Amino acid sequence: MTGAVEQSKSWFERAAAVTPGGVNSPVRAFAAVGGTPRFMVRGDGAYLWDADGNRYVDLVSSWGPMILGHAHPEVVEATRRAASSGLSFGTPTSGEVELAEEIARRVEPVERVRLVNSGTEATMSAIRLARGFTGRSKIIKFAGCYHGHVDALLAQAGSGVATLGLPTSPGVTGAQAADTLVLPYNDLDAVRAAFAENPDSIAAVITEAAAGNMGAVAPLDGFNAGLRELAHEHGALLIMDEVMTGFRVSAAGWYGREGVAGDLYTFGKVMSGGLPAAAFGGRADVMERLAPTGPVYQAGTLSGNPVAVAAGLTTLKLAGESTYRALDRNAERLGDLLGRALSDAGVAHTVSYAGNLVSVFFTETPVRDYESAAASETWRFKPFFHALLEAGVYPPPSAFEAWFVNAAMDDAAFEIIEAALPKAAQAAAAAERP
Ligand code: PLP
Repeated sequence: MTGAVEQSKSWFERAAAVTPGGVNSPVRAFAAVGGTPRFMVRGDGAYLWDADGNRYVDLVSSWGPMILGHAHPEVVEATRRAASSGLSFGTPTSGEVELAEEIARRVEPVERVRLVNSGTEATMSAIRLARGFTGRSKIIKFAGCYHGHVDALLAQAGSGVATLGLPTSPGVTGAQAADTLVLPYNDLDAVRAAFAENPDSIAAVITEAAAGNMGAVAPLDGFNAGLRELAHEHGALLIMDEVMTGFRVSAAGWYGREGVAGDLYTFGKVMSGGLPAAAFGGRADVMERLAPTGPVYQAGTLSGNPVAVAAGLTTLKLAGESTYRALDRNAERLGDLLGRALSDAGVAHTVSYAGNLVSVFFTETPVRDYESAAASETWRFKPFFHALLEAGVYPPPSAFEAWFVNAAMDDAAFEIIEAALPKAAQAAAAAERP
């Protein structure tokens, strides 16, 4: 059991006085679950420690990057070594080349790579490039898929305005969103119709290679292949967003599991080793349209930062077949424990997987898109979450986020989860519809 959270409380109060909502990324504020966000001070392997000294089994893994667990000694050492040689030069470095080569070696359709600083930057740049390459402006995205906070991609899930391509965030202009067509995930007929209704004007279809931002929702058999076929039939590009799945769900990400090639890819998270780095890449003929070889402008003062590159490259070098076997095994073990505890407590649920991304939906109806995810009994999540947190397990603080295992999880970590789950499942069972 965890104890007092006074330090976290006090830091959160200070934070709220100086930073909107007290956080630098909204989900960290616990808005969906309430309570005090934990201020973490240390991570080691499968565990995190908060400012009050409470220990947690971490099922967020920094929202994906930490597949090896926290503070892996070799990653820390490589990062330290890089930092001691200089933090940033604003020139090419050999590490950037090695990281790009490693990405291209792993993901066959990626012939050229450009490094950036965040997944948002990667998707923003990939879309600009797709528009520049095709000379078209419209983009298809899917409801419930998150591609970072790019203006044109914030037209989102779940609301009528989103499907009309109207902005769902103040500050995104109608013009920015007007070229975004939002369609239901896993629905090829909708994609076919959109291409028919918008001849010669769709530059790209962007999709999470497997959806992880409405909970884990794998593409139905043939969905990604169908997207590729339809995009190509209509002269558009397919952008596979593998920021979340890349180098996590297999050595080659979702592509390694399914083998459907995108024209462009976006990566982040794992390839950064936990520091700010991301990438986009793909077909050479498309990527060569980027400046300085082509006219599509894209740049970055800190892109390819040597310290971030050292952390990412070392993480990828260490992530071999045994790592991916461990991630798959741990995801299945977690899913089994979740399923068993909820069944024992009589809670209707589905444990959903997209590779080794796991999530729980409080419904027995299969979830295949955002509408079905949102129709689940999400109000059961809050008490479920807090019971786990109090027992020293740190799940993502939202019913719509995937749970991220890491390869450092051992029997001791799973024993803590197993011990925490019955009470959490009972709390979910006792939850009342608001
Ligand atoms: N694309 C996907 C699929 C993501 O899951 C995310 C972030 O979670 C992003 C893009 C944006 O990445 P970042 O948060 O690094 O900007």
